[in-house]
Amino acid sequence: MLLKINKFLSSDDVSLKVNESFTIDDEEFLKETRLDKNVLITGEIYRIKDSLTFSGKLEYVITVECARCLKEFDKKIETKFLADLVEEEDMESDNLQMVITDGTIKMDEAIKQLIYLSMPMKSLCRDDCKGICPNCGVNLNEETCKCENSITDPRFDKLKDLLK
Ligand SMILES: [Zn+2]
Ligand SMILES: [Zn+2]
Repeated sequence: MLLKINKFLSSDDVSLKVNESFTIDDEEFLKETRLDKNVLITGEIYRIKDSLTFSGKLEYVITVECARCLKEFDKKIETKFLADLVEEEDMESDNLQMVITDGTIKMDEAIKQLIYLSMPMKSLCRDDCKGICPNCGVNLNEETCKCENSITDPRFDKLKDLLK
């Protein structure tokens, strides 16, 4: 995942628009994160005096399990970032950094970091997901079950007995 910015570096431009799609080729990483291999980076690189800042957005698609009904679905994630473009990584800095070598930014590590930081902890397949029936286990988005009618409050059972 390389982003060439050599033309921009040798120009007098103060900013460079970026709209670049990348393919993650790290199979282990893809398996572990359940990510679609295609990611998109958009944004703008700004030159301020001698420093370069990348204000951008990463978009990717991840397969997640709904926290309520346990169904798997693909979710699109967008995460904004601000990165320092540096020639050598500064270990003291807390900022996200991307290293430029010969006018090219190697994005791999930064993209992985951004993905780890933005991966959803808990997802719902839809806001009004009905979940699964705790009694019979059917997905209540797809089916209805009769459990609701048969589960009764024990206090009412007493009442029923009295009425018999
Ligand atoms: Zn669901
Ligand atoms: Zn049920």
